[in-house]
Amino acid sequence: MIKLHDKYFKPFISGKQIDEALQRLADEIAEDVGDEIPVFVGILNGSFMVVSDFVKKYPKPCEVTFIKLASYEGVKSSEDIQRLIGLTQDLTGRTVIVLEDIIDTGNTLNEVYRIFKNEQVKSLKIATLFHKPEAYKKDFKLHYVGIEIPNKFIVGYGLDYDGLGRNLPEVYQIKETQYMTNLVLFGPPGAGKGTQA
Ligand code: 5GP
Ligand code: MG
Ligand code: MG
Repeated sequence: MIKLHDKYFKPFISGKQIDEALQRLADEIAEDVGDEIPVFVGILNGSFMVVSDFVKKYPKPCEVTFIKLASYEGVKSSEDIQRLIGLTQDLTGRTVIVLEDIIDTGNTLNEVYRIFKNEQVKSLKIATLFHKPEAYKKDFKLHYVGIEIPNKFIVGYGLDYDGLGRNLPEVYQIKETQYMTNLVLFGPPGAGKGTQA
């Protein structure tokens, strides 16, 4: 278990599981694009690790660029998406694949579609390493999904809790009950001894 700021997190998805999911996505996308050279567009900050590891597994030539959006405050998604860095290159006629770390409510994706509305791209598809189907509120199709997860807050592998946790190589899930801590703090003398890792 780890502690970031005031919250505890437990191991949830291993580096190996992430690796396998990214390999599947890379192979599937490479097959679908055929002879096209795709442009992968990562959504910063969260997707920096996904993009870095994904493109190393992508078996054919490709281009990589980033846009920077921000929505999350603490552990909650907000509808107010800020566009911090937009598209910096002309993608007219290109096969574009957006690479996301996680798609939760879909609010960020809504902004991504708004950004691409006036671009004359040949095709626009969405790939995400993680997806929370229970939290998803939009109708946009998600073309490539790595791993579906329950509607609980996660950190690690690029994902942060108020700035912390992005550098963790594996994914951790928030621990909602902290009864062990209470037991140790409020239990009878000796309670909890030898129970805490
Ligand atoms: P959405 O706009 O779909 O609700 O959320 C999209 C963005 O919010 C993601 O790209 C990610 O940066 C952030 N996000 C969504 N769910 C989580 C989560 O469980 N943990 C963290 N750390 N960030 C999340
Ligand atoms: Mg993101
Ligand atoms: Mg964040």
